[in-house]
Amino acid sequence: MSIKSINGCIGCGTCVKTCPTDVIRLDLKTGKAKITFPEDCQICHLCRMYCPVDAITISPEKSIPVIISWG
Ligand code: SF4
Ligand code: SF4
Repeated sequence: MSIKSINGCIGCGTCVKTCPTDVIRLDLKTGKAKITFPEDCQICHLCRMYCPVDAITISPEKSIPVIISWG
């Protein structure tokens, strides 16, 4: 597993739209983000970077440096 936890989610849905491998879904009961397919996480950090309330934690032991390409 690489995405670790979601705490303090306000249910904006940004991470659900952002994740390229569909790891996160909005829980229909709570309206908040839920880690649904953690085994598919590619540790890209996009969900963490775009979350407006910094609710997402990625497991540090498996994190890789963020690589941003402009070209
Ligand atoms: S780190 Fe990347 S692949 Fe993993 S849950 Fe977040 S957006 Fe999806
Ligand atoms: S981006 Fe952050 S606040 Fe928005 S749904 Fe995802 S975890 Fe919740």
